[in-house]
Amino acid sequence: MTTDGSAVAMVTDTTDIVNKAIKYHKTAPTATAALGRVLTAGSLMGSRLKNKDDSLTLTFKGDGAAGIVMAVADYSGNVKGYIENPSADLPLKPSGKLDVSGIIGAGYMSVVRDVGLKEPMTGISQIVSGEIAEDIASFFAQSEQTPTLISLGVLVDKDLSCAGAGGVFIQLLPYADESVIDKLEQNVTKITGLSSQIASGKTCEQIMADALDGIEYELFDEIETDYVCDCSKARMLRAVKSLGRDELQKIFSEQKTVEICCRFCNKKFSFTSDIME
Ligand SMILES: [Zn+2]
Repeated sequence: MTTDGSAVAMVTDTTDIVNKAIKYHKTAPTATAALGRVLTAGSLMGSRLKNKDDSLTLTFKGDGAAGIVMAVADYSGNVKGYIENPSADLPLKPSGKLDVSGIIGAGYMSVVRDVGLKEPMTGISQIVSGEIAEDIASFFAQSEQTPTLISLGVLVDKDLSCAGAGGVFIQLLPYADESVIDKLEQNVTKITGLSSQIASGKTCEQIMADALDGIEYELFDEIETDYVCDCSKARMLRAVKSLGRDELQKIFSEQKTVEICCRFCNKKFSFTSDIME
């Protein structure tokens, strides 16, 4: 946080998280970048939740080849994600960047925060560019009236692994000082090429120092984040049972087992007809 209380800033290195996502989902390069950016943003936004059992779901639903892209994060920034079409891929843009907006397309994005209330809090806004960071900044500006600076980057290597990924997330607090806002805007150029900076070994502390150059700040917290899936046999059993008794009876009359696959980590669970008893 800046010493004068104008802004809260967070920086994350999600290289390992994105590499786990590649392993689970076998994503093509453009899909890796799309899912990686959503995972990075989800982790950053999740870490702003207050309580242990809170969760945040960030979903992009555009008409591009990627289909639904989503991330589910907990309050400590652990995250899991899903992309409907992991083979979505396009040629590089003239700028040499992966064409994330091309596979996201036009549509809506949503942020759902489950904080233990009767109903989760849901915010929806239009996808403005499909590049993820701009869309999230626009979401915060429109739905939550919170000016937000967000930069997300995923660098895909020639061997299709992730060479570097991360994000910077800065939110202005009410009555933010104008001079701090000016400096933050000037510093934006220092955090461009974020994924290359991380790939070449720049630490989160160094990136934070660039993002907040010329502004006094204090480091509050440092947390380890990971790609974490909390699927379990019990949860999958509930999903299978939700098909209803008649449907299950029909299935088991044709086959001995029902197999169900976790969409976040591809772990397989199989159930036999004794679940009907
Ligand atoms: Zn799982």
